Amino acid sequence: ADSEILLSLANVESAYGPIKAIRGVSLKVRRGEIATVLGSNGAGKSTILKTISGVLDPLRGTVQFKGQDITGKDPAEIVRRGLAHVPEGREVFPLLSVRDNLLMGAFTRNDKDGVAEDIERVFGYFPILKERERQDAGLLSGGQQQMLAISRALMARPELILLDEPSLGLSPRLTKEIFEIVVRINRERGTTILLVEQNANMALNAADYGYVLENGRIVMEDRCDILREKEDIREFYLGMK
Ligand code: ATP
Repeated sequence: ADSEILLSLANVESAYGPIKAIRGVSLKVRRGEIATVLGSNGAGKSTILKTISGVLDPLRGTVQFKGQDITGKDPAEIVRRGLAHVPEGREVFPLLSVRDNLLMGAFTRNDKDGVAEDIERVFGYFPILKERERQDAGLLSGGQQQMLAISRALMARPELILLDEPSLGLSPRLTKEIFEIVVRINRERGTTILLVEQNANMALNAADYGYVLENGRIVMEDRCDILREKEDIREFYLGMK
């Protein structure tokens, strides 16, 4: 069915020691869509993604992926099931070459030919990475590292990609370029994407469905074309009146 729920969170609470970062978050992502979580600095966006990918164990609540409970499972196991996470600040391996970073993203696979094909495919999205294939990833610019981080996630052939603040530290021009590729990946490969962003304008333009997170709670959700017209959103997130 075209409205298959690929990912769902029910009443998820996560904390860092005494600090509760998300307080009962429930959300759904449908297969094939781009969903977004908007929210200001510290709202808990990254925490949601870390809880989904198994980096952080929730105190309460459940995470289901393809109808199966993945709450608290090992991150590598979650990647194996088809869910890849591009963390905030990209976190590429700076002392490995671009190519070796991509190979790290394929750690769940042993089809050598398929992996080689997929490397060429990501170079199709980001030709600059092919030019820099043998260079250490640490020498890439911020934008190129973001491209590499997304490409590395693609190497796992994920059904769902969690994308944390891809615009962080990038110029408006590069941000636009990255978002265009993200939309292309979604359209061409059918990869479902859950994107968290402070840049509400970019996120609402790229995504189909959006959630608004404030202080660890979802306070609003709707189709992005509807969210874009809401007065609160225009005022607080888009800086318009
Ligand atoms: P940002 O865009 O700044 O990352 P965010 O919406 O992603 O914002 P989170 O990173 O999820 O927010 O952080 C939510 C809350 O948890 C914040 O109050 C933050 O200070 C706190 N927090 C995040 N990471 C840690 C950590 N490793 N240790 C302690 N507190 C943390």
